[in-house]
Amino acid sequence: MRKTIETDVLIIGSGPAGYTAAIYAARANLKPHLVSGLEPGGQLTITTDVENYPGFGEVIQGPWLMEQMKEQALKVGTEFHNDIVSKVEFDKNPFYAETDSGIEFITKAIIIATGAQARWLNIESENKFKGFGISACATCDGFFFKDQNIIVVGGGNSAVEEALYLTNFASTVTLVHRRDKLRAEKILQERLFNHPKIDVIWNHVVNEFIGSDEPLSLKEVKLRNVNDNTEKVINATGAFIAIGHDPATSLFKNKIKMDDENYIITKPDSTETNIKGVYAAGDVKDKVFRQAVTAAGMGCMAALEAEKYIAENY
Ligand code: NAP
Repeated sequence: MRKTIETDVLIIGSGPAGYTAAIYAARANLKPHLVSGLEPGGQLTITTDVENYPGFGEVIQGPWLMEQMKEQALKVGTEFHNDIVSKVEFDKNPFYAETDSGIEFITKAIIIATGAQARWLNIESENKFKGFGISACATCDGFFFKDQNIIVVGGGNSAVEEALYLTNFASTVTLVHRRDKLRAEKILQERLFNHPKIDVIWNHVVNEFIGSDEPLSLKEVKLRNVNDNTEKVINATGAFIAIGHDPATSLFKNKIKMDDENYIITKPDSTETNIKGVYAAGDVKDKVFRQAVTAAGMGCMAALEAEKYIAENY
């Protein structure tokens, strides 16, 4: 059933940026509405240990942190919608947005905090075995690979964290990286190199995933040495792809200024986009830091800027 809601601020996305924007907007009495998106809570809901979000002396869990942020946002007066925004119109202000379930928002300001999604290798055999041995989320699927040989592809924090996490289940974990240096933080690298279950194969990329058709399952991975192009095949019944993320901006294509990697462009020292009254915060606009705490900071900035914009224009 269609329903129209008029509001001051619509927040799209429910990661640290979205929830922080909601907390600040609600406390500014803007009665924000937040539409959660496909993955309520965002990327932190598919991680485990969080050791670098300030304020916690002990290790905390990503899903728990997001639950707390949501509770805080609700307590101060955010209206929460477990829904997906399927259309936005920025042509005139107040702006228009519509959701899958038929809610139409008329809103003075919009804060885009839709985050980013895991990137895939995009080779044909990857598509074939996705969900049948290949995954992009160790915390979601690691359990299914008990006592198996697993590879993790990538050299950043995500790849190293996934490799370490997977040692809880797998008999061996092989990290396959295309260079001879990792990008991950030193403390994570040390844990990786010192782990008895983990090996690293340097300077290699995946050329093909090989397995059986019935039942559909991964058995081997063909790797290519990037220096001399030689190939080798290793046994692996699980492969986790952890090669970074792409911003979730398809909804805004041709409606707002983005860079050539589809990150939303904002003004320097600001979350304001090229459209006055539309703000972007978190991984959807940030390819440099991409931390929960920096996303939260940008969410705060977006809410304060939206508040100022509304005060000056309405
Ligand atoms: P990332 O830092 O961008 O690393 C991606 C890795 O994948 C890089 O090592 C890259 O290789 C490799 N790669 C990219 N495309 C590839 C391809 N087509 N084939 C093979 N390898 C490929 O991504 P991330 O690890 O997902 O991290 C994203 C951000 O989140 C970072 O800012 C990171 O610090 C943050 N993060 C933080 C934590 C934490 O603080 N605990 C945890 C997870 C993520 P090259 O190195 O050769 O470019």
